Amino acid sequence: MNDCIFCKIAARRIPSQNVYEDESAAAFKDLNPQAPVHILIVPKKHISGLDACRREDAALLGHLQLVAAKLAAENGIAGGYRLLTNNGRGAGQSVDHLHYHLLGGRPLAWPPG
Ligand code: AMP
Repeated sequence: MNDCIFCKIAARRIPSQNVYEDESAAAFKDLNPQAPVHILIVPKKHISGLDACRREDAALLGHLQLVAAKLAAENGIAGGYRLLTNNGRGAGQSVDHLHYHLLGGRPLAWPPG
């Protein structure tokens, strides 16, 4: 999608601190990190959020989670990390391109705010 910032980052049309890329996914450091490790994992395909996912996206969703687990291991947080997606304004979603936040490197309280 032309005006989507995460589509542009995934296509490397604007710079970011990229940490991973394959044929269907990309991952980059969050601009405003909330933890020592804060990585965003996104599909290259534009999907506005989890509510917009369909059955045919199931493999892609699983893939994004496996990429997150791999990045957690690579970043030394395999023993304690959080993977989350904010769906909708009510949950604080501010970018309408599906993304998982991978957070770790500090104690993570529950419940989140
Ligand atoms: P959410 O509020 O769940 O939609 O998360 C959006 C996240 O994207 C926030 O944590 C922002 O800090 C992050 N973000 C926004 N623009 C950029 C960007 N250009 N590069 C990296 N992270 C970004």
